[in-house]
Amino acid sequence: MEEGIILLNHGGGGKLSQELIRGIFFKHFGSYSGPFATDSALIDKGKELMAFTTDSYVVDPIFFPGGNIGKLAVCGTVNDLAVSGAIPMYLSCGFIIEEGFSIRHLEEIVATMAQESQKAGVRIVAGDTKVVDKGKCDKIFINTAGIGLLEPDNRHISFGEKLQPGDSILINGSIGDHSVAVMAARNNISLNNTVISDCAPLNAMIAAVMQAGIEIKFMRDATRGGLATVLCEIAEGRNLGIEIDEEKIPLKDAVEGFCEVLGFDPLYMANEGKVVMIVPAGQAADAIKILQRYECGQQAAVVGEITGKHPSKVMMNTGVGGKRMLDMLSGEQLPRIC
Ligand code: MG
Repeated sequence: MEEGIILLNHGGGGKLSQELIRGIFFKHFGSYSGPFATDSALIDKGKELMAFTTDSYVVDPIFFPGGNIGKLAVCGTVNDLAVSGAIPMYLSCGFIIEEGFSIRHLEEIVATMAQESQKAGVRIVAGDTKVVDKGKCDKIFINTAGIGLLEPDNRHISFGEKLQPGDSILINGSIGDHSVAVMAARNNISLNNTVISDCAPLNAMIAAVMQAGIEIKFMRDATRGGLATVLCEIAEGRNLGIEIDEEKIPLKDAVEGFCEVLGFDPLYMANEGKVVMIVPAGQAADAIKILQRYECGQQAAVVGEITGKHPSKVMMNTGVGGKRMLDMLSGEQLPRIC
């Protein structure tokens, strides 16, 4: 890595984040899962595999339409386990709190964490609290780590090892909602229709798809970097082409309008309750039916497919009949969105 300083974009989930992970963290720690960065580390534990993951939450503002920092901290870690094909089981939580923070707000956040944990069927079993001087951190930061178990047969899901041309790419609903909800709240922008964050635990919905015998070939939650970044990572990682149709991607009018006015691209915006799932084409319709049974999957749609054409490239058929190649986001990112 070049000599330099940390920029906000190093934490944005795009190209600079990748450079930091590879240039500093993998360089010194090694990569447990190989060159392919997965949502959870998969550790051999006798007959089963253990999935292990961790994430820190620094969202600003800490309360936003559809959730708060505590809800994010539980759902984000639960979802990283669930998209690895694991059943999430136990979480830890670490709090870094600024001196002067309201105890009432802390309790509200903690109560939300308890509620979401119950919903997701996980237990918070370990934790830590640190308080720093006023002005040395912004209100409250939370780290959660989580473990879950999965069948060794499902190890391939994190890596997309079984992907092949023709497979269908699904998403469980509209993109960009979380980013817009947080940004509108941060900047006091009132929208005609308030956009609510999609933050939700996805494990029950994902488990239902797996239990129905649908062969899930790849899953990832489309958090920082959005749908486009997930697709670019899998296309590059597996040297496969991806073709998606802009018109098939669920997008709320209010989100589209917000993005147009402020110059954001919803394809790159963070979601907190969206899973990109790739299944054999013949099982896509059945998978959609199952997703749609869940509140977080009502707008589930097939948005594209894996193709043998243009390996490692993601091509989008645009609404106006053109083609656009999607790259991993390298420019301006939205800091502190999660
Ligand atoms: Mg993830």
